[in-house]
Amino acid sequence: MFNLPHQVDFALNKLIAAGYEAFIVGGCVRDILRQKAPSDYDITTSAEPEQTKAVFEGEKIIETGLKHGTVTLLKDGMPLEITTYRIDGAYADNRRPTSVQFTKSLTEDLARRDFTINAMAFSEKTGIVDPFGGEADLQNKIIRSVGDADRRFNEDALRIMRAIRFASVLGFKIEESTKKSIFKNKNLLKNISSERIAAELVKLLCGKNAKQIIVDYFEVLEVILPEIGKMKNFNQNNPHHIYPLLEHTAIAVENTPAEPPLRLAMLLHDCGKPDALTIDEQGVSHFYGHPEISAQKAKAALSRLKLDNATVNLAVELIKHHDADITPTEKSVKKALNKYTPEVFFKLLEVKMADNLAQNPKYNRIDEIKALKTMATEIINKNDCYSIKQLAVNGRDLINIGIPAGKELGKALDFLLNAVINEKVENKKENLLSYLKEKGGFNS
Ligand code: ATP
Ligand code: MG
Repeated sequence: MFNLPHQVDFALNKLIAAGYEAFIVGGCVRDILRQKAPSDYDITTSAEPEQTKAVFEGEKIIETGLKHGTVTLLKDGMPLEITTYRIDGAYADNRRPTSVQFTKSLTEDLARRDFTINAMAFSEKTGIVDPFGGEADLQNKIIRSVGDADRRFNEDALRIMRAIRFASVLGFKIEESTKKSIFKNKNLLKNISSERIAAELVKLLCGKNAKQIIVDYFEVLEVILPEIGKMKNFNQNNPHHIYPLLEHTAIAVENTPAEPPLRLAMLLHDCGKPDALTIDEQGVSHFYGHPEISAQKAKAALSRLKLDNATVNLAVELIKHHDADITPTEKSVKKALNKYTPEVFFKLLEVKMADNLAQNPKYNRIDEIKALKTMATEIINKNDCYSIKQLAVNGRDLINIGIPAGKELGKALDFLLNAVINEKVENKKENLLSYLKEKGGFNS
């Protein structure tokens, strides 16, 4: 089972030959036991950083975090983080330890790790080292704090997010006392940096069990995203809906491809509904204007989490337009491709599909959404004109016939694009220019 890459064998063997202990540790051991390929290999060793450097003399070494005991060995294209066995010192502000202390005990090093499934080590020589029952928890699909959960979440509150992230990604349950402690200590997350929270949130949302975690741990998510607070216990009370708002949202998230901007958009797409609520004479709820309100809230939330601009902008745009009406006709699809760009248009269809699948199946629009996708694909494959840059004339051509550069030029190009999409004129230079002269009154 433990067929380690030759680079890893090389590193372990070298350290062991020099008289030190050395193991692969943490996420990679967990992943191998789950028969998943690890994303990277971390090594833990009794050697101190200077000793590790001496062992790998002549090799490519990066001093990643000497103070924390980490040296990175770059071997045949593979980076290996080699960290000295350590005990974390005092913790300040529920964040990272202010100091670390090296130790000669592997068990002590494993004891500082967050969950039992992440607190195992392995070497060919010794086999699996598992002092906290990680292998059994892995088998039983359980996330359990190493040691007292309250103490561990107080040391580093990010572990609260990590717990629910692993539960989502692995599809595991969180052990009862760990779970209780998560709810008890959830507010400590306010002390954690946005970047660390955002990284865990994104992984959580892209996890296979995201729906269940969003519903079960909603109160935790609310701490980092107060914008979603009003979604709890909010009945939609409208024939298009069969689920309360939170459940609808969670189902929609899970129906969306596991890409961060899409999943973030889905989580927040309806968060403005409670603010937009009106009730008509029949007692039916409506949420006019909610996409815009949701988009504004999402913009604030995602910027606060310091997600990158591309992710924030795409998520916000998708939220803003998630209810846009696009009729499945060539003309209206071309207009939509022009308005959104093909990239955003196809993502918008994913959002619409996920949203629709989480609504009353009586009003399902799945065929319509599929038709939009087919039409757009055909338009693009045929290279049909749907944007100004595909017009057979450019700004220069129009200036040459006397249209002043600036606002008027833009208007003329828009006018021609519309005429082409509406099949009033063929997209050929001569035709366009004479059409413009005839209709536009742009004669010089
Ligand atoms: P992933 O597959 O997402 O990389 P991972 O378990 O490898 O998961 P990392 O963040 O790469 O997670 O951390 C490597 C190891 O370091 C973990 O398996 C765990 O043993 C330990 N660890 C990471 N973060 C913490 C933390 N906040 N508190 C305690 N131990 C941690
Ligand atoms: Mg890792």
